[in-house]
Amino acid sequence: MKRVIIASNNAHKVDEIEHALNFPGWEFQTLREAGIESDPVEDGETFEANARIKAQAAREAAGGACAVLADDSGLEVDALGGAPGVYSSRYAGEDGNDAANNAKLFRELADVPDEQRTGRFVCTLVFIDEDGSETVARGTVEGHIGHELRGENGFGYDPLFLPVEFGGGITFAEVPQSEKSAISHRGNALRLLREKLES
Ligand code: IMP
Repeated sequence: MKRVIIASNNAHKVDEIEHALNFPGWEFQTLREAGIESDPVEDGETFEANARIKAQAAREAAGGACAVLADDSGLEVDALGGAPGVYSSRYAGEDGNDAANNAKLFRELADVPDEQRTGRFVCTLVFIDEDGSETVARGTVEGHIGHELRGENGFGYDPLFLPVEFGGGITFAEVPQSEKSAISHRGNALRLLREKLES
């Protein structure tokens, strides 16, 4: 078996990664499952820089020559100059407070008309193999920011994000994970990573 450590403890991300990269002989472990503590300061200015910080930190914490996969992702809103961007998980201050982040986004966009409420989710994956070679894959999904939270699925900004591919009237939180993954930033990045690793 080839063990790949996923530099995350986010169950949503781990499920999606395991499903997309179901190569025979590959076995994924979260940081927790691998018994690793790794929580580096994500002070990069891009999603790629932050994903690399997470991948390298997990690799070091695991003692070196193992395969690791990290992702960094977030929401870019055009009317806010790309914010929250790399600050997506702590937009309102406290890391991972989805309710506060969503409330802040609604406040910031209160006076922005519908046609200007455009944005995208971005995900960058950094895979470092046992030999230290690195593969990077980036995926995006375009959409609009709604005016209310809708749906119970997913996490983060899902209940306010209306992907273009769903016709503009359905949020990511209103569909099952499989329908989200088929068009999502993380799904697209994972499909690209899979292609790159297979070639
Ligand atoms: P990360 O865990 O450092 O990649 O931070 C990602 C943050 O961006 C999350 O805390 C969410 O706020 C947001 N985000 C990233 N991907 C998604 C998604 O698929 N749905 C909703 N929010 C997301």
